[in-house]
Amino acid sequence: MKRSTRGCGCAIAVLLVLLAGGGFAFWKWGRPWLRARPPKPTGELQVHVLDVGPTEGDSILIVSPTGTSVLIDAGDAGKGKVILDALKRYKVEKLDYFIATHPHPDHIGAADEVISAIKVGTVIDNGVDLSTPKPSPTPLKKGAKPAPTPAPAKKSKVQSINAFFDEYKDAVDKSGARHEKAEPGKKYDLGGGAIVTVLAPSDPFFTKDHMKTGGNETNANSIVLRLDYGDFSMLLMGDAEDQTETRLLGKELNLKANVIKIAHHGSKYATSENFLKRVQPEAALISDGAWNRYGHPAQPVLDRLKGINAKVYRTDLQGEITLTTHGKLDSAKFYEITTAKEAKEDIWTGREGMKDDSSRSGFIAYGDFGPPPKQKPARK
Ligand SMILES: [Zn+2]
Repeated sequence: MKRSTRGCGCAIAVLLVLLAGGGFAFWKWGRPWLRARPPKPTGELQVHVLDVGPTEGDSILIVSPTGTSVLIDAGDAGKGKVILDALKRYKVEKLDYFIATHPHPDHIGAADEVISAIKVGTVIDNGVDLSTPKPSPTPLKKGAKPAPTPAPAKKSKVQSINAFFDEYKDAVDKSGARHEKAEPGKKYDLGGGAIVTVLAPSDPFFTKDHMKTGGNETNANSIVLRLDYGDFSMLLMGDAEDQTETRLLGKELNLKANVIKIAHHGSKYATSENFLKRVQPEAALISDGAWNRYGHPAQPVLDRLKGINAKVYRTDLQGEITLTTHGKLDSAKFYEITTAKEAKEDIWTGREGMKDDSSRSGFIAYGDFGPPPKQKPARK
């Protein structure tokens, strides 16, 4: 009796050691392996390039198969309603992420309108702070009486050139959203197998000195993202410039993608031949406005896209662009792209830019030509 009990105890001990060893091996090697593997697609991923024209701007909504929502940019001031209506249409009640690719008015102009109207979990931007500096109070001399508080100044008619940024920052601060700086290589799991990876900007940030061949440094420091979902992939270029693309090409990055959201509304200073050669996109989505004065999209960019047999979609001619995919290459519809309307003009014809007025004072350099025409205030 005694002997058999001892034998049984021994077997249990061996079993326990084996289990512990197996558990440790799984924890050490199995778990990281499982984690490194991209999750399998579970349903439909949606990407909506919203129509925030006609002056120009970007606003792109991603909804993952599990309903995680990401809004990339929010168009120019006054476009909040268009964006909020779209969110309602796609049953987005809360934004898990708002990503501001770069601080230009055509990308974050209406961010305050959106952020103050809907709950936002995390705001991600490139960390460039364009806040209008606040006057610092002059230090009091010893024994001096503090000056009486001056009467509040009348609202200055001349708004700070960076008022759009102050409004954005204010809205983010008030929203209670988490604020993160985009870090290259960082991945955001959107659930259901969809993953967003930050590709740019990377240090050192571009300065005016880097832009002598054209383009604009604020654009060049745009957040560039990669969206993966099963076999499907897409690049979202913000307003990246040729310099951004060259830097990305110099890194060990997987840039091959089925679809690309073209950089900088189709500017001639981006979407280089070398970059397209590496990405090999089958479809190119261009977010641009019919009234833009910068010559977007530029004819050479459209020609380059034609040269690689890419399908082109443009918000200025076709309105909102919607992409849906189940992420499975072998399915009947690997991915589908639809537009709000049919193009009435030739999709392969670019727009002419207006006179370069970038030497004008108060000009915000968008990279090509001057700022968009001022809109007349709506009559009441
Ligand atoms: Zn832009």
